[in-house]
Amino acid sequence: LEAHRDDGYALHAQYMNPQLPRMLHAIGFDKTYVRGQGAYLYDAQGTAYLDMLAGFGVYALGRHHPVVRRALHDVLDAELSDLTQFDCAPLPGLLAQALAAKTPHLDRVYFGNSGTEAVEAALKFARHATGRPRIVYCDHAYHGLTVGSLSINGAEEFRGGFGPLLPDTAIAYGDIAALEVELRRGDVAAFVVEPIQGKGVAVPPAGFLRAAGELAHRHGALLIADEVQTGIGRTGDFFAYLDDGAAPDIVTVAKALSGGYVPVGAMISSTAIFEKVYSSMDRVLVHDSTFGSNAQAMAAGLATLHVMENEAVVDNARKVGDQLRSRLAELVDRYEMLADVRGRGLMIGIEFGRPSSWKLRSSWTALQSARHGLFAQTIVHALFHRHRVLTQVSGDNMEVIKLIPPLTIGEAEVDRFVAAFVDVMEEAHRSTALMRDFGRTLITQAMKR
Ligand code: PMP
Repeated sequence: LEAHRDDGYALHAQYMNPQLPRMLHAIGFDKTYVRGQGAYLYDAQGTAYLDMLAGFGVYALGRHHPVVRRALHDVLDAELSDLTQFDCAPLPGLLAQALAAKTPHLDRVYFGNSGTEAVEAALKFARHATGRPRIVYCDHAYHGLTVGSLSINGAEEFRGGFGPLLPDTAIAYGDIAALEVELRRGDVAAFVVEPIQGKGVAVPPAGFLRAAGELAHRHGALLIADEVQTGIGRTGDFFAYLDDGAAPDIVTVAKALSGGYVPVGAMISSTAIFEKVYSSMDRVLVHDSTFGSNAQAMAAGLATLHVMENEAVVDNARKVGDQLRSRLAELVDRYEMLADVRGRGLMIGIEFGRPSSWKLRSSWTALQSARHGLFAQTIVHALFHRHRVLTQVSGDNMEVIKLIPPLTIGEAEVDRFVAAFVDVMEEAHRSTALMRDFGRTLITQAMKR
């Protein structure tokens, strides 16, 4: 590793997806980190970067958490550390029990290796349990990229070129009337929905999930809450659906379940659905995967849930998330180009919009006409290069900055982020220097190619 520390980009470009290193170069994110601790990443020079991304939300406890690492070491060091098929070792059952305890009315669990796999399992179980073919999903939804989950992906950029997909229908996110129209057709197995949409951090009207569940049940369909991104404390509740008083029949979870250390995914379902599927199929293997419920994933999951409980991590996410969101929301009136701050817990979206004054409008328009989302990208670039803070752009037009930091951040990280953001917004409104800098990065990187 030491000998190849600086080769990652070239190797990736040559043997894997050449687009990724090209994109990271283009936006000036070409940095390799050598160490992580909590909410900070360190480069080879020892410079600290505040990580407001947490590996797309997986590092809920931050990097290098001693308890999760200990659990993984313990499993490897145990005499029987290997995956043993045809074995009922206690770890999977214990993690299933712990998850069931977090979902008041759901108590059956299937373990796979990713969020996508959890969603695929949910689609199979919902179709078989209801005997119906169609799944309703939302515009802009993301549930994975395999053929089943792609069929309920709300973005043409992902769907295009792989059809025909499964018979599924999209509605606008949060549109209860549109959902009812679809359910009335009587062929809907389930409505699949993210309690808060990952793309652009879209928050539905209050009570939407509960109403959607009640409506689905009235029409003989199921509600599947995809909590792959919102679950495990992200929104200040253990699951986001709990805040809404909704009663989904199936919940999918992954990402942060292992603390981010090892791949894991889980589908949590009602006993009624499990029994319907297993009894009518009359066979042991309805759905499975070789590495599903492997010991490392289960141990990391149990350790993560233990730390969450022991260190009151979910309460922290709610408290610190409220602080961060309200401090950012105060800035909406101060900066013309800041349109909205939204989210729940530590899943926060900062949306930019076209300024009204002529002076700012010319630079905004120049950027947006060059490519959608260049203003948000400019702010992300400036936060990174001037303040060493990692964020990402998101949303349909890439006009949103998304924050999904470790759930363990505290006031120091909130202060540092807000100070950096204010500084960058001040400059963006005062001069075009940020945009010029970012423009230069784009041009330099384009010339390097
Ligand atoms: N569902 C949601 C809501 C997600 O955010 C994601 C991942 N971004 C997935 C499913 C797919 O999960 P994975 O990448 O672990 O397969």
